[in-house]
Amino acid sequence: MENKTVPSPEELQKLLEKAQREVQAALEKMTPEERAQAELNAKKRMEEDRASMQALMDEAAAVAAGSIPKPAAKFCPNCGAPVSGGKFCANCGKPLPGAG
Ligand SMILES: [Zn+2]
Repeated sequence: MENKTVPSPEELQKLLEKAQREVQAALEKMTPEERAQAELNAKKRMEEDRASMQALMDEAAAVAAGSIPKPAAKFCPNCGAPVSGGKFCANCGKPLPGAG
């Protein structure tokens, strides 16, 4: 039970080379049409990944710029008890910021 979850850089490199060889072999077996389709699919997936990454970045930027209000405090700033949207803390009775 050693290095099971974290492969060493050498192992990663080997895995990567193996995967690349397999992709290469699969590509060579394909007809030009199939290959074009596979490349198209890979490109599409990459664009989708980029789009979802971009959406995350946009959201983070919007939150940072303050255009999206942060959710109300989830913990009482006075006593630290979790609160669920009321005006006052159920634990210590202090008024909660951002409510009403
Ligand atoms: Zn409190």
